[in-house]
Amino acid sequence: MPARDALLRLNDYYEVYSPANPTAAQNEGGRCMNCGAAFCMPDSGYGQGCPIDNKIPEWNELVRLGRWEDAYHRLSETNPFPEFTSRVCPAPCQDACILGINEHPVQIKGIERAIIDRAFQEGWVKPTKPEQRRRQRVAIVGSGPAGLGAATELNRMGYRVTVFERSDRPGGLLRYGVPNMKLDKAVLDRRIDLVRKSGVCFEVNCEIGRDIQPDSLRQEYDAVLLACGAKRPRDLDLPGRHLDGIHQAMDYLTASMKALNSGEPPVIDAHGKRVVVIGAGDTGADCIATALRQGASGVINLANGPSPPAERTERFPWPGPKGTLRTDYAHQEAKSTQGQDPRQWQATTLSFASSQSAPDKIDYINVQDESGQTRRISADLVILSVGFTGHDMTHLVDRLQTSTDDFPILLAGDMATGPSLVVHAISEGKRAAQAINERLVHSKT
Ligand SMILES: Cc1cc2nc3c(=O)[nH]c(=O)nc-3n(C[C@H](O)[C@H](O)[C@H](O)COP(=O)(O)OP(=O)(O)OC[C@H]3O[C@@H](n4cnc5c(N)ncnc54)[C@H](O)[C@@H]3O)c2cc1C
Ligand code: SF4
Repeated sequence: MPARDALLRLNDYYEVYSPANPTAAQNEGGRCMNCGAAFCMPDSGYGQGCPIDNKIPEWNELVRLGRWEDAYHRLSETNPFPEFTSRVCPAPCQDACILGINEHPVQIKGIERAIIDRAFQEGWVKPTKPEQRRRQRVAIVGSGPAGLGAATELNRMGYRVTVFERSDRPGGLLRYGVPNMKLDKAVLDRRIDLVRKSGVCFEVNCEIGRDIQPDSLRQEYDAVLLACGAKRPRDLDLPGRHLDGIHQAMDYLTASMKALNSGEPPVIDAHGKRVVVIGAGDTGADCIATALRQGASGVINLANGPSPPAERTERFPWPGPKGTLRTDYAHQEAKSTQGQDPRQWQATTLSFASSQSAPDKIDYINVQDESGQTRRISADLVILSVGFTGHDMTHLVDRLQTSTDDFPILLAGDMATGPSLVVHAISEGKRAAQAINERLVHSKT
């Protein structure tokens, strides 16, 4: 998938990657060796590859032969949302590809994108209504990829599904987390529309535990799935943390996406500011890219640990994750506009400080480097992106689970596993749907 020029794309919030080229995808499909032991598929018993068990060698071959519709049907047997994964998945399948041992791995994610693009163009993707409706009703709390995955699967099985979402629009972190540059929200809306037309009901602006009490879910539904995510942020409890201009990454990213929806200026704006992002993970990268688009005067990214190596080491053996330094779209953009990678490794934040003229506002950060020396980094806006500690719905789980009966209550997605990936959340949602079905299919209700 070709990326748009870094300097050009900084002028907008459109997707970084252009649609995959079908001819290139066919050639790439032809590189797949159809290995006896396909490490890209965990199902094969060997691999650590695709968490959703996509039948990769099968659709690679169908694409090579130009049998696009068959490839789409094979892909959708396992993956309900290939348009999400082919945009945001870090592609562990490619890390596990056997060709990757001594040459470029097959670009599986690009082939997946080519298949689903073609399927939407040709009108093959349609709402899927079940042949028969069951009487049983399932409530799903949370409309992220786990909730959407479970809703799709349970609806297909015939259950009456309602998804409750406390936010103003469905999608979870796909809506207010993953920026538009990685996933255009029209792509998300198109899928939610299909899920709705397939028969799933959505109740937005509705927080379970506040607007609807857990007891009434138990009375009105036959099973409840909690897929509330794990968005509670880790904080940096350091001197000066109270100063104005220090924000959590999710507050910053959500404000940016809400501003794009409304056309109003963002509540937290990097325009003209010296921005420091603390934490060098994926969320930190999304903050860098957003700050650059808002017109930050400069962006620095501080990482506590050392830079990962350029090549695989013994600590990360094939076919698992590579553990190498990743230069993401945001780092390329910062390099293009600032002339260097924004990441500073082994830079430990010690404290935040203000100037004498504005004692309530952040002015600089005190940082310690590898050798123990301290230095100041100027900052008008600091974004904390140091991870998530889990979900904030313990009260809800407790209220639902206090009963001694066997009412089915399940957890899925980040709420069950801790912060993870979209592909894991979808897979978790499917697993939970199967578990609910096993419980309900034999019940008398
Ligand atoms: C900034 C950012 C960028 C990311 N980028 C990527 C990426 O590029 N690739 C990737 O694979 N993963 C990425 N991730 C991770 C990925 O988004 C998550 O792993 C995934 O969204 C988890 O899905 P989920 O359905 O479990 O939870 P979420 O997506 O968090 O959805 C949970 C939903 O539940 C709702 N909710 C919570 N409590 C209640 C309640 N009581 N009542 C009603 N609704 C409730 C929330 O409002 C939310 O909408 C990123 C995460 C972040 C934060
Ligand atoms: S979902 Fe992710 S791991 Fe699976 S085939 Fe697609 S890119 Fe690879």
